[in-house]
Amino acid sequence: MVEMKNVNVHYASGIDALVNVNLRINDGEFVFIVGESGAGKSTLMKLMMRELMPSSGRVFVNGYNLEKLKGNRIAKFRRSIGLVFQDFRLIQDYTVYENVAFVLRIADQSNRYIRQRVPYVLNLMEMAGKAKHKTRELSGGEQQRVAIARALANDPGLLIVDEPTGNLDPEKSYKLVGLLKEINRCGTTVVMITHEHDLVRYFGGRIINIDKGEITFDETIGGNDEDQ
Ligand code: ADP
Repeated sequence: MVEMKNVNVHYASGIDALVNVNLRINDGEFVFIVGESGAGKSTLMKLMMRELMPSSGRVFVNGYNLEKLKGNRIAKFRRSIGLVFQDFRLIQDYTVYENVAFVLRIADQSNRYIRQRVPYVLNLMEMAGKAKHKTRELSGGEQQRVAIARALANDPGLLIVDEPTGNLDPEKSYKLVGLLKEINRCGTTVVMITHEHDLVRYFGGRIINIDKGEITFDETIGGNDEDQ
C-alpha cells in the first residue's frame, strides 16, 4: 500500500517537482503511472522508496510512516518493496543465479531457502534457463527480467518498476507487462512507471497521470487485453 497526503517536493534548484499530491494505492492493485519526461515520475518513485523525503506532506508505504523510520527498520522497510531501475543495477560479473541469491544472503536467508527461492523467481520471469550465465552475456530484455526476478526475491508486497519497456521492441514490451500482470495476480501490488500511452491503453486498469508535478488524472479504464 502507498499513501501520500498533501505531498510537495521542492528541489533546491527552485523546481516544484510535486505539487499537493494525494494518492492511495491499495494492496493488490496494478497501477500505471504515466507522464512526460520531467513530469515528476522519478521523484514520486524516490519518495516511495524513501530515497527522498517530501518538503511537506506525508508518505506511508506498506504500513510504514516513512518520516518516522529509523535504524534497522529502514532495512526492513526496504525489503518490503521490490525496485526495478531503468539501468537494472545488476552485478555484471555475477551469474544470473548469483545476482538473485545475493539479495537473499543480505537478508540473512538460509542456504536451503535460497536454493528454493532463486529458481522459483527465475522461473516466474522465464529466466531459469540462463541461471548459470554471466549477466553481461545477456540481452537488455533478459537483464531486465533478471532485475525483476531479483526484486521479487524477498517476496515484497509492492513492486515498483521504472520504465521497464524503454529499450524493448513492442512485442517484448507487451509480453513483459503480461508477466508483471501475472505477478500482480499472485498478490503483489505493482506500480509501473512509463511514458508509453499505447501500452497503457492496451492493458487498461488504473492509470495515474502526472503533469508538471500534479496528478491530473487518476482513473480505471478498460483495456483491449483479452483477459480484462
Ligand atoms: P520524470 O521522472 O517524470 O522525468 P523527475 O521526477 O525526474 O521527472 O523530475 C521532475 C522535475 O524535477 C524536473 O523538472 C526535473 O528537472 C527536476 N528534478 C529532478 N531531480 C532533481 C534534483 N535532484 N534537483 C533538482 N531538480 C530536479
